[in-house]
Amino acid sequence: MFVLKFGGTSVGSIENMTNVKNIINDGQRKVVVLSAMSGTTNALVTISDCIKFKEIENALEQISELHNTYKVTVEKLIQNSTLKTEVASYVNSIFDTLKAVAYDNYSPLLANKIVAQGELLSTVIFSRFLKQEGLNACLLPALDFMRVDKFNEPDNFYIRQNFNRLINDLPEADIYITQGFICLDALGNIANLQRGGSDYTATIIGAALGAEEVQIWTDIDGFHNNDPRFVPETHAISNLSFDEAAELAYFGAKILHPQTVMPVRDLDIPVRLKNTLSPSSHGTLITNAIHSEGIKAIAAKDGITAIKIKSARMLLAHGFLKKVFEIFEKHETAIDMITTSEIAISLTIDETKNLSEIVTELEKFAKVEVDGYRSIVCLVGNHIVYHPDTPKLFQILQDVNVRMISYGGSSNNISLLINTSDKIETLRKLNRYVFDLVPA
Ligand code: ADP
Ligand code: ASP
Ligand code: MG
Repeated sequence: MFVLKFGGTSVGSIENMTNVKNIINDGQRKVVVLSAMSGTTNALVTISDCIKFKEIENALEQISELHNTYKVTVEKLIQNSTLKTEVASYVNSIFDTLKAVAYDNYSPLLANKIVAQGELLSTVIFSRFLKQEGLNACLLPALDFMRVDKFNEPDNFYIRQNFNRLINDLPEADIYITQGFICLDALGNIANLQRGGSDYTATIIGAALGAEEVQIWTDIDGFHNNDPRFVPETHAISNLSFDEAAELAYFGAKILHPQTVMPVRDLDIPVRLKNTLSPSSHGTLITNAIHSEGIKAIAAKDGITAIKIKSARMLLAHGFLKKVFEIFEKHETAIDMITTSEIAISLTIDETKNLSEIVTELEKFAKVEVDGYRSIVCLVGNHIVYHPDTPKLFQILQDVNVRMISYGGSSNNISLLINTSDKIETLRKLNRYVFDLVPA
């Protein structure tokens, strides 16, 4: 069986929902994972923030604005009067609940409940639309099978058992629709797989099913060699290895949630990226196969904080690194990049929740400097570290204000730490040097 995931734009308009219907209506049994309609999760996050800051009037205004957009969608999409009544009353019930919770005290659990409504809405609306169009589809509630454990990792045993049970109970359906992004936590509360998490839902389901292929349908013709939001001349890459895709997703390529390939990599289940707006484009196929060497793509991740830790002694004392790492471990803060010299180490983190505690502990035995607003630019390709073209990269670094560099940690990745304010220029320069073969 195939698993197909459609992102926010793909279900964001009546025209695009019709495209999705045509893509999935090929007579093959499949699982279809849907995101919220584009803009909805952002709007729900804003509503939740208004509740957090006790801006109740503002929250109610945003809720009614969002409700209006859904009323228009349902009115235009569903013509069958029984289905229209059913869908409209479901939509109204969701917005009534949102209005009621606007007066509640804020908690992270409440925020999770609020942001979950986007996927609940899109899947009910879309599945009834398919029914109206005569497709044999049924809705599988993600909260009946998708769960994470106390480490926020997918509870694969639970997911596999429950997903397969639900499917076996509905053997006559051709298309199983479910919500991306949302899940239960280890205590049974509504939670989610973080922003962009519907991609991850699709591969978790793909692994649970032993799917033939997982397809991520979005609004672009595949994985591009650089970030198309910032660099004008980019192109789609036809093949990527799991390792390359994992590095690019982790280091900020927005097209994939950072964890997307993890569930399917070891099972060797291919992931195909496709464009809902241009289904005949080749897209990108991600497999274990290695297709070429050298720099294949560049991505950038913002929100990085650099920390320089200088030993109080002249040289790094024996056990210094161990002491430093233990502090980060104790505060459950992952380190992305690291470089060392004889008297200092520099490292980066992307989670600053426990930063002040970390700095207080480090300052007991070292001098500490913290710099925010950094970005990691990551160049990825199979074995790029050994590729004859890669040394050219070092000649161009004089044009780029690099604060730190990581080379050789993995043979597929070279990472540069830069100021976020230099990001767009750096991505564009690297694009020209690396892909347009401008002599360095
Ligand atoms: P969806 O809502 O379908 O999940 P996303 O917005 O999450 O879509 O991801 C698709 C977007 O990712 C593209 O429209 C593009 O702007 C952005 N993007 C960033 N980096 C890349 C890249 N390397 N290749 C393709 N798209 C990228
Ligand atoms: N709707 C969620 C988000 O906007 C999940 C997703 O689109 O993948 O982050
Ligand atoms: Mg996405």
